[in-house]
Amino acid sequence: EAKLSGKNALRFFDPRMQQAVQERLRLEEEIRRGVLTGEFFLYLQAQVEQTRGLTGAEALVRWRHPQRGLLSPAEFIVQAERAGLVQELDVLMLRQACLQLAQWSGRVGFDELTLAVNISAHLVYQDDFISLLLQLLQASGANPQRLKLELTETLLLDNMPEAIARMNQLKAHGIRFSIDDFGTGYSSMSYLQQLPLDQLKIDQAFVRGLPDDASSQTIVRATCALAAGLGLEVIAEGVESEEQRTALLANGCHRYQGYLFGKPMPVEEFERLVVAQPQRASASG
Ligand code: C2E
Ligand code: MG
Ligand code: MG
Ligand code: MG
Repeated sequence: EAKLSGKNALRFFDPRMQQAVQERLRLEEEIRRGVLTGEFFLYLQAQVEQTRGLTGAEALVRWRHPQRGLLSPAEFIVQAERAGLVQELDVLMLRQACLQLAQWSGRVGFDELTLAVNISAHLVYQDDFISLLLQLLQASGANPQRLKLELTETLLLDNMPEAIARMNQLKAHGIRFSIDDFGTGYSSMSYLQQLPLDQLKIDQAFVRGLPDDASSQTIVRATCALAAGLGLEVIAEGVESEEQRTALLANGCHRYQGYLFGKPMPVEEFERLVVAQPQRASASG
């Protein structure tokens, strides 16, 4: 307990709080530097479809920190967002994803893979977002139809008319959209009717309870019915066991992502996974 009296009255900062503030500022500075020096790069996690096998990957940002080693988003995304830097990270990831798609283009087994990139709504609302993304696609030569943007509902709904307009513009170029962590937001479902979506991604919170938990089964089944009725694809994230996959399939979900099929991994490792696919030459769509 801090006693505020006499000459200490103005020291309302607890030393630990002051240290936390300093650490926060240092991290923000390090993110800024890391963006400039190329310390951020993508890992890929396989996405599979029940009958077609591997169909693509989700790109997940990683930070190769000079002192602290390989860092996951949990250690910097929130801070980057608070510092207004998440858009820069997202653009870096989009650039790398476009270059990757361009590199795969025309290669047997790779040509039809899709890459899903996580985008903060802050970037969606940035003035130059559309031109920036189209420029990245054009400069790289990537096929826009192979790119999927993963958005979360929360921030997206701040300015629905603007989000709809922007998404429609990108959609006209073939870019697809997925709602990430579906079912964990607090919003009404009316946005599903209005946004030009292609996919719902069932949050791993609902997959975790499978195969036994009845309410998780119900939520998965209802989500799949909802998606089917709206003409949307469904994918489940965080699939760790064969039992979970079977339960998902039984409840109408045919697309999966999770440790059962592969952890997020370096690009070269993912490419080896693609090459090892038995039916890779016949995959389509
Ligand atoms: P997310 O988009 O929901 O990604 C799924 C997270 O679950 C990833 O964590 C992934 O490694 C993890 N995961 C995948 N399969 C399994 C599984 O079977 N079991 C369990 N327990 N976990 C699994 P990661 O890579 O740490 O990313 C965390 C979050 O950071 C992502 O959640 C996404 O919201 C955000 N993120 C990642 N990359 C970017 C980016 O480039 N930009 C933005 N704005 N956000 C990003
Ligand atoms: Mg995601
Ligand atoms: Mg997710
Ligand atoms: Mg998630």
